[in-house]
Amino acid sequence: MSFHWMLSLLQRGDQISMRREAHEKKYPDAKVISLGIGDTTQPIPSIVTSAMAEYALALSTPEGYQGYGPEQGQKSLRKAIADVVYPNMGIRDTEVFISDGAQCDIARLQMMFGRDVTIAVQDPTFPGYVDNGVIMGQTGPAAVDEESGGSRYAGIEYMRCAPENAFFPDLSRVRRTDVIFFCSPNNPTGHAASRDQLRQLVDFARRNGSIVVFDSAYASYVSPGAGGDDGDKPRSIYEVPGAREVAIEISSFSKFAGFTGVRLGWAVVPDELLYADGTRVARDFDRVVTTCFNGASSVAQAGGLACLATEEGRAAVARVVAGYKENARVLVGTFQALGKEVYGGDDSPYVWVRLFPGRRSWDVFAEILEKTHVITVPGSGFGPGGEGFVRVSAFNSRDRVVEACARLTSFLA
Ligand SMILES: *Cc1c(COP(=O)(O)O)cnc(C)c1O
Repeated sequence: MSFHWMLSLLQRGDQISMRREAHEKKYPDAKVISLGIGDTTQPIPSIVTSAMAEYALALSTPEGYQGYGPEQGQKSLRKAIADVVYPNMGIRDTEVFISDGAQCDIARLQMMFGRDVTIAVQDPTFPGYVDNGVIMGQTGPAAVDEESGGSRYAGIEYMRCAPENAFFPDLSRVRRTDVIFFCSPNNPTGHAASRDQLRQLVDFARRNGSIVVFDSAYASYVSPGAGGDDGDKPRSIYEVPGAREVAIEISSFSKFAGFTGVRLGWAVVPDELLYADGTRVARDFDRVVTTCFNGASSVAQAGGLACLATEEGRAAVARVVAGYKENARVLVGTFQALGKEVYGGDDSPYVWVRLFPGRRSWDVFAEILEKTHVITVPGSGFGPGGEGFVRVSAFNSRDRVVEACARLTSFLA
């Protein structure tokens, strides 16, 4: 175990909050608006919280008390996910493993894969895949770009996803790896891969005998028909033929239902997904789940079921997502009106923008904070390919987003 590699990880995390603190000291009267960290802000619909409250209160009664549940999750929730999230995709409830969140599943999957696998990630991407790989010892040392703060670890295949390639790598130039982490709609770029792009990804994995870990945490933000390509963007990798033999899908109630604090997610590990020796990956994942995790909170699972089981529940959580999507539309419209190069927002709560071409992400972040008291996230924190961009999050109230847009407009116009 090489602790100095982990150190480079740990130092990165707190930079934004440190800068925010310094800023608030310098301008004690400024109203800072955070469009930074990817955390939900709006209340959870009461149809969901009442189900949790009811379940929790029943725990105080002899009839309603329950202890450990199945480590893989409650049957009713596994079935609701298979039926509602994966209709007509041939996903069986027994292939759905309920968890305490996608971040935790990334860690458990990386633990299952072990130290000796090679991994590929999109660049830029959500940092969890790389960071857990670093902790597992899959990588060599980081080469940190002192100026941008973007780091690149030896041994990881970074698949550049930029406006120039429609946010999808030229796979003929990607080195074969054992595992490919792929997030769509992508955090941070907001790009939802087209059906054709996902077909290419699945074919590539099948040719190479690679496992795709498909992160669909933002699937509920996909707008059919919106955005670029032909508007045909799958919400799940299992919409693509052949994916069952190569892909694990991880997903979450966090951005779908405001469960970032409640904690609930799932992983789908299809029965047909096999290692090279013919053994089932699901068997190993089941072993990891039963060994390192005793199952998700039963209260959280009661809430998850309320999000999915009734039309009313589904509509209530969809309204919250629609509100964030409207915020994203307001942000995109603002940057477009200012003539800025802007991406995302159609299929995700994230807007990806190059405000000052040629300037570094951290510079742009600092200038926006200084002049408008608005917090963004420097793109270079998501990998070297994010340099030059900032990510602007739609996770806030409409009022604050509108206020932030007014400030950005008076500064940038
Ligand atoms: C927020 C986020 C997650 C984390 O989900 P949890 O279920 O809260 O752990 C996973 N993947 C991506 C891409 C995210 O943005």
